[in-house]
Amino acid sequence: MTKKTAKLASNLTEKSDGVFDAVIVGAGIAGMYMLYRLRERGLSSLVIEMASDVGGTWHWNRYPGARCDTDTIEYSYSFCEELQQEWEWSSRYPTQPEILQYLNHVADRFDLRPDILFKTRVQSAHFNEVTGHWGLQTDHGTKFSAQFLIMATGCLSTPHTPAIDGVDSFTGPIYHTGRWPHEEVDFSGQRVGIIGTGSSAVQSIPVIAQQADQLMVFQRTAQYSVPARNRPVDPEFVAEIKADYAGFRARNRLQFSGQLSHFPHNDFSALSVEPAERERIYEERWQIGGFPFFGSFNDILRDQKSNDTAAEFVRRKIRAVVHDPKVADMLCPTHTIACKRPVLDSSFFETFNQANVLLVDIHSAPIQEITPTGLRTANSNYELDSIIFATGFDAMTGTLLRMDIRGRKGLRLQEKWSEGPRNYLGLTIPGFPNFFTVTGPGSPSVLVNMVVAIEQHVEWIADCIDYMSEHEHRCIEAHLNAEHEWVDHVNKVADGTLSPTCNSWYLGANIPGKTRVYMPLHGFPAYVKKCEELVANGYEGFLFSS
Ligand code: FAD
Ligand code: NAP
Repeated sequence: MTKKTAKLASNLTEKSDGVFDAVIVGAGIAGMYMLYRLRERGLSSLVIEMASDVGGTWHWNRYPGARCDTDTIEYSYSFCEELQQEWEWSSRYPTQPEILQYLNHVADRFDLRPDILFKTRVQSAHFNEVTGHWGLQTDHGTKFSAQFLIMATGCLSTPHTPAIDGVDSFTGPIYHTGRWPHEEVDFSGQRVGIIGTGSSAVQSIPVIAQQADQLMVFQRTAQYSVPARNRPVDPEFVAEIKADYAGFRARNRLQFSGQLSHFPHNDFSALSVEPAERERIYEERWQIGGFPFFGSFNDILRDQKSNDTAAEFVRRKIRAVVHDPKVADMLCPTHTIACKRPVLDSSFFETFNQANVLLVDIHSAPIQEITPTGLRTANSNYELDSIIFATGFDAMTGTLLRMDIRGRKGLRLQEKWSEGPRNYLGLTIPGFPNFFTVTGPGSPSVLVNMVVAIEQHVEWIADCIDYMSEHEHRCIEAHLNAEHEWVDHVNKVADGTLSPTCNSWYLGANIPGKTRVYMPLHGFPAYVKKCEELVANGYEGFLFSS
């Protein structure tokens, strides 16, 4: 390490170049914590962030109704005891503004902003085999170089807007949930069209329906959704957790998806109990609300027959809520439940009982074009004042592949990943030395409470850099064999589940032309164990050089 003092990012002019021990791209939950860890070790570090401030996901996704769907007592940093003791959340799933307020508090508390360069997009990152440094270029033409390059660029940070003919001809405003304006959008008196029924749409539809004159929901695939049952936090419960927050976090990390140790998965099959008992268990968890429902039995994601029982339970709930049987039918999904990312809602299905809400099936009659005054499907014309794309993200790989990243011998990441992402542990890529991805494909990432996944990766990277420093290594790179074995492992684990059986963004199926590969890895504790074991074995699978 150079041990050179970092120039303050705020002092870097558009023209100045800078040399750092580490450059971190992204100032969301991952980038902020990575900076904290590296600064603590005395490394000169710079974060480059294209947004105007910290927060990542919570900076960009400001659509009406946006909130987390992980219990917030868990969806928060655990690395600082004082921080987790002092922060008070208002509800089980706080809104986007409250989460952003928390992340601002973290930035202030640890004085992170001086080392973050905002409104700057990294366009390219090339590894220089002579200097052993990464050279970066930004959209301002500035150049930076660093020994370590850490991509904290997020799994869901590049919005996907489908190419629909005529989109530029629309005379009203067009929004994407993942790039929502900072100022309030008022839909009063308007005819609003929303395309998509994933988590973002499911959260925003009930809120927009309260305001808009008419809301038209364009649905391609019906969604299973479980009531979130948001509520103010219970002070007694919080006090109990805070009395031993570290113990609570440790128990969560031992859960399959790194969360909910207080609602653990039942460890028996849905088919091992009588139908009445099965119904009782589903109902009990339905009433708790949120992700505990998916832990009703241990084989919902492994056995199609078990899965069918959960799917049918949810369909019955939808039919019981939605008054018009035809609309209820349209809202009833038929694919494998929990195969797409589970969705939680607050009165989503109830909203379709409102007279001003229209559900439009664009599976059987797809959107053909956007017109100056609305939208035309194969069946009908819809007159609209505003259009909202709630069409998701080019997940997990999209953000990385939009940069021109080149490793040894000029190997381009786009080329390396042309058949889908390949790496070791979701953390490192052979041919790309000293290059790390936080919650990269091939790691549990999006299948886990993401703050937990992020903290584990950041700590692993920081420890690895410490190890290199202690052993006077300047370069770490994964072996190609380790990559092959790892990719096989990730695929094998996915193939042991029902996960690859539907068109999800986990598979890249939402992006036309994207290679269909199941990207995240199931099972957080086993993954952590593997990461720890290979370190104990002298960083098995890695090559160090000085
Ligand atoms: P991000 O927050 O995505 O931050 C990445 C940052 O990198 C962004 O600020 C981006 O601008 C920046 N960046 C990207 N490319 C470049 C570039 N080339 N140059 C400069 N900057 C760049 N997960 C959960 O576990 N529970 C939840 O309840 C939950 N709710 C969610 C709700 C929404 C609406 C969305 C979209 C996701 C949600 N997630 C949730 C997943 C969420 O993305 C993670 O929990 C977490 O916020 C990710 O943090 P991150 O720092 O890894 O990435
Ligand atoms: P998403 O889950 O990918 O949903 C996108 C929706 O748009 C789907 O209904 C999809 O239909 C539809 N769509 C996409 N392309 C389309 C096209 N060309 N034509 C018609 N419809 C199209 O995206 P998201 O809702 O933004 O959520 C993404 C992820 O972010 C979530 O899964 C979750 O991980 C996270 N998130 C979490 C929360 C939370 O509750 N905390 C909130 C928002 C987001 P198909 O299903 O047919 O593809």
